[in-house]
Amino acid sequence: MSFKAEYIWIDGTEPTAKLRSKTKILGDDAKGAELPIWGFDGSSTNQAEGHASDCVLKPVFSCPDPIRGGDDILVLCEVLNIDFTPHVTNTRAALAEVAEKFASQEPIFGIEQEYTFFKDGYPLGFPKGGFPAPQGGYYCGVGADEIFGRDVVEAHLDNCLKAGLAISGINAEVMPGQWEFQVGPVSPLEVSDHMWVARWLLYRTAEDFGVSATLDPKPVKGDWNGAGAHTNFSTKAMREGYDAIITACESLGEGSKPLDHVKNYGAGIDDRLTGLHETAPWDKYSYGVSNRGASVRIPWQVEKDGKGYIEDRRPNANVDPYVVTRLLVDTCCSALEKAGQV
Ligand code: ADP
Ligand code: MN
Ligand code: MN
Ligand code: MN
Repeated sequence: MSFKAEYIWIDGTEPTAKLRSKTKILGDDAKGAELPIWGFDGSSTNQAEGHASDCVLKPVFSCPDPIRGGDDILVLCEVLNIDFTPHVTNTRAALAEVAEKFASQEPIFGIEQEYTFFKDGYPLGFPKGGFPAPQGGYYCGVGADEIFGRDVVEAHLDNCLKAGLAISGINAEVMPGQWEFQVGPVSPLEVSDHMWVARWLLYRTAEDFGVSATLDPKPVKGDWNGAGAHTNFSTKAMREGYDAIITACESLGEGSKPLDHVKNYGAGIDDRLTGLHETAPWDKYSYGVSNRGASVRIPWQVEKDGKGYIEDRRPNANVDPYVVTRLLVDTCCSALEKAGQV
């Protein structure tokens, strides 16, 4: 029997790309075979001019479609030009190269994706035209006075699990209607592919509840935490010893590295990394044990064990996972190689 393949890709919207998708019906003969290349109208997605509008979709990751069920699948694609070179909006191709170059260091990532539900123009749980009680009780809370949207969150978690994504947890965040899910720890390409599909499933799941989800890094101005995408990172050497942990932390502070990273960590990063609300100022790099006010945190358990991973707390919720993982692998693995800690 024929089945439905939802082809998903990342568009050219600036400053933050959006997800797009459309459905292709595939015949029985397509089962188990290599998924076909497809195309779309790039002039409708900020990826081409009208007079030469064709862009190519190359399947790179597929999984069961938990929403349609049966034999239906989700197909994440890279966008290519018609000569099959990577499109300028294709950030995955560059990550694939860097991940390949440093594969022997076995880098892995766990990304914490924070997001906020909106309904009728307000964060879910905000009274119309006003504000709820200040943050303090909502993080990991329970009860109808603190928790808004749990039915959506549970449905999204189930969908991610049915799709076989490497989702590893969920929690309610510090503002009403704000939540987090974690993906990983897995390889750079895996964590990023799974994250993009998990984001698509978040929007798609919430759609059925009449709720929208946003990765806006500062969805409410004022005394409310923004939304980030803390990126936890380790290599084999870091999982085996503390010297490599310190080398990685130091490498992120060298020369132009702090700015090179921060300016690619999501649009609007200076609005979120203010030095308040559990952030470090965007223009001042720091690292420290247990310090949630540092750019990079070494978890207490890592210091105690003398090995483990580091948490880059700077990336915005709207960061491109292909970009943040590429930068971290490139900076830290180059430094570890130079220090002979591989
Ligand atoms: P917190 O909210 O305290 O910062 P979370 O539990 O939300 O922490 O996220 C911790 C993340 O660290 C998880 O996504 C997990 O996958 C990731 N992680 C754990 N061990 C490693 C490791 N060795 N390398 C990379 N990431 C890791
Ligand atoms: Mn977390
Ligand atoms: Mn969090
Ligand atoms: Mn964190």
